[in-house]
Formats: sequence, C-alpha cells, structure tokens
Amino acid sequence: MAMLSCIHHVSWLKPIDGGKHQCTYCREVVTKKEIYPKFEDLGVEFQQKWDRHEKGEDAKPAGPAPGVAS
Ligand SMILES: [Zn+2]
Repeated sequence: MAMLSCIHHVSWLKPIDGGKHQCTYCREVVTKKEIYPKFEDLGVEFQQKWDRHEKGEDAKPAGPAPGVAS
C-alpha cells in the first residue's frame, strides 16, 4: 500500500546512484525540495554533502569499501 504523505525525513534519506537521494521509508526518490526539515534549515554541512552527491563529486572509487568512514 502506498504512503500518501511521507514527509521524507532527512534521517531516512540515503544517497543513491545518479546523484539522487532515496527515502528508505517510502522508497521514493526525493529532491531537496521534498524533504523534511526544509533543506535550507539543515545547515551548511548537510547542504554541501547533498550538493556534492548531486554533482557526483563524492562518488566512491570502484570497489567495495563498506563501513569506511572518511
Ligand atoms: Zn519518504
């Protein structure tokens, strides 16, 4: 059954391929305009991380490296 009004809370979001973000709660691909709290309210660190992912600048080099924190 589809969620009618998922708020796409930032704590549910994960970066996915193609510079996009997905809500792990409702499984929708979301944009920065659809998330909660508002993108503008999330702080520079979050915004930069999001933008880097959108531009593909945080793309990981080939090869699995699970659990590595930079
Ligand atoms: Zn959602």
